Amino acid sequence: MSVATIAREKKDIYEVGEIPPEFHVPKFMHAWAIRRERHGRPNTAMQVEQVPVPEIDSDEVLVLVMAAGVNYNGIWAGLGEPISPFDVHKADFHVAGSDASGIVWAVGRKVTRVKPGDEVVIHCNQDDGDDEECNGGDPMFSPSQRIWGYETPDGSFAQFCRVQARQCMPRPKHLTWEESACYTLTLATAYRMLFGHRPHIVKPGNNVLVWGASGGLGSFGVQLCAVTGAHAIGVVSDNDKFDFVYSMGAKGVLNRKDYNCWGQLPTVNGPEFSDYMRENRKFGKAIWEITGKKDVDIVFEHPGESTFPVSVFVVKRGGMVVICAGTTGFNLTMDARFLWMRQKRVQGSHFANLAQASAANQLVIDRRIDPCMSEVFPWADIPAAHEKMLDNKHLPGNMAVLVTSPKPGLRTVEDVLAVSGQT
Ligand code: NDP
Repeated sequence: MSVATIAREKKDIYEVGEIPPEFHVPKFMHAWAIRRERHGRPNTAMQVEQVPVPEIDSDEVLVLVMAAGVNYNGIWAGLGEPISPFDVHKADFHVAGSDASGIVWAVGRKVTRVKPGDEVVIHCNQDDGDDEECNGGDPMFSPSQRIWGYETPDGSFAQFCRVQARQCMPRPKHLTWEESACYTLTLATAYRMLFGHRPHIVKPGNNVLVWGASGGLGSFGVQLCAVTGAHAIGVVSDNDKFDFVYSMGAKGVLNRKDYNCWGQLPTVNGPEFSDYMRENRKFGKAIWEITGKKDVDIVFEHPGESTFPVSVFVVKRGGMVVICAGTTGFNLTMDARFLWMRQKRVQGSHFANLAQASAANQLVIDRRIDPCMSEVFPWADIPAAHEKMLDNKHLPGNMAVLVTSPKPGLRTVEDVLAVSGQT
């Protein structure tokens, strides 16, 4: 790695896109910062500020961010909904960004997992590492578990970010900086949803209903099913997305606009109930046409309020609805009779532990999973990318933003240095 060849004076702050001389850590950096008084839509909430480069502890790592991923964490943090991140971490400003690719720039004295110069992608789970769940249990159950860039103030929409050493994973070298920055959060989450909740793990031949199948989570839900030999039935809101979902290996795709059973469950046996159930059965029949009259083994849930009662209805006896979000609302409703009589399982799921994130990352390194990068934005358009996502106007797949990498398509540090004239 040739950052060693950069003969530049050491400065207190560098322009975005400039790579400092070999492992020099400046005092300040440019960052898209959110402040409590600016809570609102991304264009309002996120502003570029010059802020101190975070100091690292003995088990932490400072990463020069080459590219970052766009996901809902940045939207929720900006809006301050359902909670303000400032009520969690108490810092003065919040730098969002829970996905990144970059170069390890400095390491704490206890760090052995990575060294300066390593190219990494970063997963967003942090914990204190010293309780029973982190030592023999599941770190995702640790009381200290937190999401970097959402519950911590030092995310990837900045020139440098601070992470725990165990957040670093090897970067798939066949991908560009931005492709490698766009997938970890959604892929690792999808991996835990489908493989993390025994005995309901996806098996060859299973049928899995995947909501938002062209989105960040959904595109990986579909691909993970395909890799496993299971049948994904994707749901989208536009026939134009069908080809994309089929190209990832789905067995069938449905357009949710063809049905009218969305939103909270109407009062059971109330005036709207029979119409609602008729539509629900119509949707179930469409699934059966794809599966050969089999109910789905697992429903991959994240829209929440608008789809949850249907998810509980269509999943098979003894099957599982696994849910990691409530994008359309948190007031989940269901007809409880179907839950207990058919002994269904409703399982909450949240991001992933390191073992799960690493297994998911290995599938990308092995080229079994495509990162499905949809669009890449320049540094200046980080809020605009979030605006698009908030309005559900983004293209299928996962969005990335450039930070230090000056243009899309670059795969190495040498590429970056050459393109930006820094050699
Ligand atoms: P995307 O926007 O990429 O995908 C969401 C998809 O949901 C869209 O493509 C859209 O597809 C679909 N959708 C939108 N509105 C509805 C609706 N009313 N009914 C059914 N489907 C709908 O987002 P992500 O996949 O990245 O994230 C989705 C959610 O998951 C977010 O709330 C995010 O915060 C959360 N999340 C949670 C994680 C965790 O660890 N707990 C990790 C990652 C994400 P279409 O319109 O085509 O149906």
